[in-house]
Amino acid sequence: MRRERVVVAGGGVGGVEAALALRDLCGDAVEIDLVAPERTFVYRALSVAEPFGYERAQHVPLGRLQRSHGIRVRRDTLEEVHPGVREVVLGDGSVLGYDALVLALGARQEAWLQGSVCFTGPRAVGAVREVLERMATGEVASVCFAAPTVSWTLPLYELALLTASWCAERRLPEVRLEIVTPEPEPLALFGRAAADAVTGLLRDRGVGLRAGELASAGTVDADAVVTLPLLRRTPLPGAPADDAGFVPVDAHSAVTGLDAVYAVGDITDQPVKQGGLAAQQADAAAAAIAHRLGRPVDPEPFRPVLRGLLLTGVAAAFLRDDGDGASEAAFDALWWPPTKIAGRYLGPFLAHEAHAGGTPMLVDRMAPTDAERAARDRDEVRRMAADLARAEARWGDHHAALHWLDAVERLDGVLGPELGELRSRCRAAL
Ligand SMILES: Cc1cc2nc3c(=O)[nH]c(=O)nc-3n(C[C@H](O)[C@H](O)[C@H](O)COP(=O)(O)OP(=O)(O)OC[C@H]3O[C@@H](n4cnc5c(N)ncnc54)[C@H](O)[C@@H]3O)c2cc1C
Repeated sequence: MRRERVVVAGGGVGGVEAALALRDLCGDAVEIDLVAPERTFVYRALSVAEPFGYERAQHVPLGRLQRSHGIRVRRDTLEEVHPGVREVVLGDGSVLGYDALVLALGARQEAWLQGSVCFTGPRAVGAVREVLERMATGEVASVCFAAPTVSWTLPLYELALLTASWCAERRLPEVRLEIVTPEPEPLALFGRAAADAVTGLLRDRGVGLRAGELASAGTVDADAVVTLPLLRRTPLPGAPADDAGFVPVDAHSAVTGLDAVYAVGDITDQPVKQGGLAAQQADAAAAAIAHRLGRPVDPEPFRPVLRGLLLTGVAAAFLRDDGDGASEAAFDALWWPPTKIAGRYLGPFLAHEAHAGGTPMLVDRMAPTDAERAARDRDEVRRMAADLARAEARWGDHHAALHWLDAVERLDGVLGPELGELRSRCRAAL
């Protein structure tokens, strides 16, 4: 008897989450083929910290999915969909049949402001480093951070706050930093609590804010400009697309007008292009596919909950908005494991790959009721964990040192340069 086969196209956030969710919901009887051109999943969201001397963003070989979850990984591209006969054509010309197909091909990043450094992820780390070096020599005395849309702007705030910390550490107080964004308030998508918390953070760090403005529509007075990219799509043959090239989907991630084809993440017409939401769409697609293949699974629709971990250069801020007006901001983890991309399966998978242990599925947590006390406790735990890591490393117990370093990372979102270097030394010594 032929085994049921699900093809997942794309090895990024949506694709990996969909494959992991499918394995959990459909069991081992279904074949899962993941088609992606790259060998490695790159944790792009963490690359914002790299220019400032933090550790390189996590890289996980996609082959691990094969070993740990029996997901077959094909290094190829998907070129065409033939929904009538349930087949896809790959870059090498081969044809794959499917019972269900998940499109998680992401979007193309485009620069939109001439003369600016467009932060697209790991490839742009060097360009931001260059701006920092020019700040250190005094050649750059003002930097503007500009967002093109009101969609996913969190990395821009991280770049501005991390730059502010970087300047403070080097005693460069005369450098002027400013964010220009079309959002009515900072990170307005996350609601009131987040907007207030981020407004306070920017004020405390001396980062200026021009909200409700588009940098390309006016004049910006700055020696350097850092922007986030615009996202675009070229339609995929065989799949529908809206005017901007994005694939229209319903709440179960089913592609409009096609049978057994689902799309998740940045490729879809969902307006906010964010990893956590891509993962939630992937979970909805996996549930719908499991239901369709006769598994006793409730096909739960996509009900967006926005979760964002904001790197600030000091403690990480956790932001959450459940879409029903409940907005929360805390410096303590609002979900566990406290990963930057909050995917139900992807978060624990990445935490496990980083040897940080954790739960099998991402779970939400409440914000602490006494925030000041929680902040004091957190500082104490961080200091203790960092001291113990240094001590264990000195005594030669590198395993123990790595555990303490994981604890610091969970508190701050990323390890700072000194502890990051200690981690590299401990790993090398094992
Ligand atoms: C700098 C930066 C910081 C970010 N910070 C955060 C954050 O803190 N939190 C958060 O939740 N989100 C964050 N995001 C957004 C998040 O990374 C994206 O929304 C998310 O990666 C979208 O997932 P996706 O699977 O749709 O696309 P991607 O993750 O981009 O994956 C697309 C995949 O499809 C593959 N592909 C492309 N074409 C083909 C083809 N023809 N055939 C087969 N495979 C193909 C690609 O190679 C890739 O593997 C950030 C993004 C950036 C750039």
